[in-house]
Amino acid sequence: TTPSPRPAQPAPRRPNVGVKIGKITVGGGAPIVVQSMTNTDTEDPASTAKQIAELARAGSELVRITVNTPAAAAAVPRIRDKLAMMGVDVPIIGDFHYNGHQLLEAEPACAEALAKYRINPGNVGFGKKKDTQFASIIEMALRYEKPVRIGANWGSLDQSMVAMLMDENHQRAEPWDASHVAREALIRSALDSAKRAEDIGLPRDRIILSCKVSGVQELIAVYRDIAARCDYALHLGLTEAGMGSKGIAASSAALAVLLQEGIGDTIRISLTPEPGASRTGEVIVAQELLQTMGLRAFTPLVTACPGCGRTTSEFFQVLARTVQDHVREQMPLWRVKYDGVENLTLAVMGCVVNGPGESKHANIGISLPGNGEAPSAPVFIDGQKAMTLRGDNIASEFIGILDNYVAS
Ligand code: SF4
Repeated sequence: TTPSPRPAQPAPRRPNVGVKIGKITVGGGAPIVVQSMTNTDTEDPASTAKQIAELARAGSELVRITVNTPAAAAAVPRIRDKLAMMGVDVPIIGDFHYNGHQLLEAEPACAEALAKYRINPGNVGFGKKKDTQFASIIEMALRYEKPVRIGANWGSLDQSMVAMLMDENHQRAEPWDASHVAREALIRSALDSAKRAEDIGLPRDRIILSCKVSGVQELIAVYRDIAARCDYALHLGLTEAGMGSKGIAASSAALAVLLQEGIGDTIRISLTPEPGASRTGEVIVAQELLQTMGLRAFTPLVTACPGCGRTTSEFFQVLARTVQDHVREQMPLWRVKYDGVENLTLAVMGCVVNGPGESKHANIGISLPGNGEAPSAPVFIDGQKAMTLRGDNIASEFIGILDNYVAS
């Protein structure tokens, strides 16, 4: 018998409890949310508000800021007010370590201004203080009606949990390896903290979990495991992914496997930016990951061939870059004016081998002439050859065709 074809789509999303963070919903079947984090000094409201605005305008639907000192906590309401004056409406998440209980209690305006609190169960306190300090943050979340993310991290594991699991491991007939023990510590730390938060009174629809590690295979293993053990919404991210292409490849590899399996409700791509570079690169990578997997649509998708010995001039690469930049720059405007334009597909191809064929699959495609081909570039619109461009203005004419198509 002929095997039935496998569907070309991800597995159904893992059912879980949705969480409202300001105007955004994470989980519960809502679209997967893109988020990012600032790297400015939160004590400086002007530069932090400016970077939040850049991230939000690039498409970050939630933005996290570190809240690490009394001055940073005092700055949070001022940051929120500056954003309102700039017309930027994005939920701000406070990232707390060690002293979150003190900062939230000392600065009620900060507790109120934030849309969510992130708690790291490995850094919330030690020994006997841990329970009371954790409870204090949850009580603030209850008082101000905020959700929390309980975010465990490989780099700051709860050491008492690790010690307990190592003791348990010694009793096993077949002990786990160290990586397995650490993964279990991460998961149990998140799940136990979530249970404790619920016992204090925080409802399930205000709890998100994450268990971040820096290794691709470990991240996949951890999230498969925790996804099977609870129905909390999950925040996905490969922590300390690294710089440039390494960070993008590692994050995409890990997150794509999990997203394909229906796991993950909000994602952050944690890239180390080049010195002086914009922070918005991680937002674009997150959007492109979700869009190329068919999970969301943010901007017209540009298909371009890699080029080869048939395209020795750089013109084809320049045109592909021009089209890509144009759709990114125009998207906020287009999206407001033309609902659904983000589902548009564009093709920029280098020669006749795959050019016309790929162009026909797109809403608008152009096939440039390769070496030795006639100096003409057929343009296809909705699968039909519509015109042929020639001469020095092919790029601007093609952009004009694209703009007209969107407008019509
Ligand atoms: Fe090379 Fe043409 Fe294929 Fe592009 S479409 S990679 S130029 S053969």
